[in-house]
Amino acid sequence: MRSTDDRYRSDQARHDLALRLIAHEARTGTIRQLTGLSDDRIRRLFGSYFKHQPGNAVRRRRGRTPSQVSMFLKTPRHRRHAASLAAAFVAGGLFDPETRAVCGDCKLDTGERLCLAYERYLALHGGKDGALLTIEWAWALLGSLQAGDELALDVCEQCDVHYVRDLLSIEAQQCPSCLVMPNGRCRKSRDHAHTGHTLGAGFA
Ligand SMILES: [Zn+2]
Repeated sequence: MRSTDDRYRSDQARHDLALRLIAHEARTGTIRQLTGLSDDRIRRLFGSYFKHQPGNAVRRRRGRTPSQVSMFLKTPRHRRHAASLAAAFVAGGLFDPETRAVCGDCKLDTGERLCLAYERYLALHGGKDGALLTIEWAWALLGSLQAGDELALDVCEQCDVHYVRDLLSIEAQQCPSCLVMPNGRCRKSRDHAHTGHTLGAGFA
């Protein structure tokens, strides 16, 4: 009985995570990787829950997960968004900056932590319309931080905020939060330590 219950719970958890990922417009390959569900089942879930809903704004993304790290360094705003996502990874127990490990008891747990971190990022930036980075970019950022060959997660000495540093750049790099402050320094606050950014207009 117990193993049947466990199997049911696990299947339900996979199903719930897949719906959450579809709502964030994750790609089929990413959903498959995190939930273990087949492409066909993912397609059917999308068809049953999203496709024919009136006013459906959820799209199915196809193709490969984006992988160019330049997306996170493109402009100061992109760097602030990447830093804010990375801080949400750390705060949500998804990424350990010391060991560069992606955390989770299993893929499903990792997927749930990814959704939670991404939802925190969305909340900080005013939802989908204010977010520069999709969940696929979040997944790519996590992969890059884990690989540690192009990007590193550092803590700014001035403001204690996590920020993403370009390992291949020879220029001195400043934390993007400090860059937006008039005197080049950003206030220390408990908020910063946990989320990466306050909701001030300058941090959008
Ligand atoms: Zn700073």
